[in-house]
Amino acid sequence: MSGTLEDRDSAFVRIADVSRHFSDVTALDRVSLDIAEGEFFSLLGSSGCGKTTLLRMIGGLDMPDSGKIEIAGADMSGVPANHRPVNTVFQSYAIFPHLSVADNVAFGLRAEGLRRAEIATRVAEALAAFAIDGLARRRPDELSGGQRQRVALARAIVKRPRVLLLDEPLAALDRQLREAMGLELVRLQEQLGITFIMVTHDQQQALSMSTRIALMQGGRIEQCGTPADVYARPASIFAANFLGGANLVMGNVADNDSGRIHITCADGRVLAAPSRDGIGRNDAVALMLRPESLRVGPPDTADADMTQLEGDVERVIYEGNSLLVQVRTRTADTVTARIGPDGDFAINAGMPVRLTWRFDAGVVLPA
Ligand code: ATP
Repeated sequence: MSGTLEDRDSAFVRIADVSRHFSDVTALDRVSLDIAEGEFFSLLGSSGCGKTTLLRMIGGLDMPDSGKIEIAGADMSGVPANHRPVNTVFQSYAIFPHLSVADNVAFGLRAEGLRRAEIATRVAEALAAFAIDGLARRRPDELSGGQRQRVALARAIVKRPRVLLLDEPLAALDRQLREAMGLELVRLQEQLGITFIMVTHDQQQALSMSTRIALMQGGRIEQCGTPADVYARPASIFAANFLGGANLVMGNVADNDSGRIHITCADGRVLAAPSRDGIGRNDAVALMLRPESLRVGPPDTADADMTQLEGDVERVIYEGNSLLVQVRTRTADTVTARIGPDGDFAINAGMPVRLTWRFDAGVVLPA
């Protein structure tokens, strides 16, 4: 699946048919992706899927075996990292321990040979943008993790790149700081208006921060789209599971026409779901339902507008702001519903229930 933008001229970073092999490992397998100017784009996937290799190639730290990369309309083949309009923030931050915060931020500008007054102005601006102007004279070992992260960002931004590459920028932070810095990064990206490309293995980060996500697996793009797209309309069981809780009710296609697919489940019951291309009669499929799309009611509730399935509650898990209700359905699948903590009736393990959902919340995926 490609991540090509509909308007081909709007691509600012274009990755065209890029492959990269390391002896017998295929790190990237004919990857094509178009990223528009000003996007906050995420490369999402588990360890080893090729996301860092792709980021390094955009930055010029590694070269494709075949295919090419263009930035702002220019072919980057043979263009070294320091001549690309790109800067990278590494997971390790890579800040110099022996230099002060201000000297760390000034480092790249000094290497460019800029005038002292110009350097001082730009460093002051960058420190202010990250609210670390009060720390200018400190050394990295006198900073917290979040402050070191800000120094790394300030040092990358001060060079005014047109594309900022971020390799797991929040991985070293604890959960609260990670969420706060995530929001800060989004605000900063909007303010600067430059293109951000972030590598992450954290689906929540990718969903909450990005304009678009490319989900990668085995050196390929599994799916590319907006967070709402990929979450609500995953293209495969892999994508459905990677992006969040995914219930899978297994069955075979009875028919696929007039906008509906009918699926025959293990117990002979037939469930309806919205139609999709590439699914034919008798195909083995999974009906994917997100936990929050499901309602849990007493077994005698019937609602003609809703699709429904009966089962018995196996477990109820309290999560503070929600309850997870695990139900063993009559189709022999285990389905989890996420509901508010103060629902209409008390749900206990062993209780028979009826799960209901809006027809169009279901997604049929090839099994
Ligand atoms: P992680 O999240 O663990 O960093 P990733 O998705 O970023 O994973 P890559 O670092 O891009 O994955 O690696 C993709 C594949 O290429 C892996 O199998 C990795 O072992 C292999 N690989 C990457 N760099 C090299 C290298 N320099 N030499 C040999 N193999 C490599």
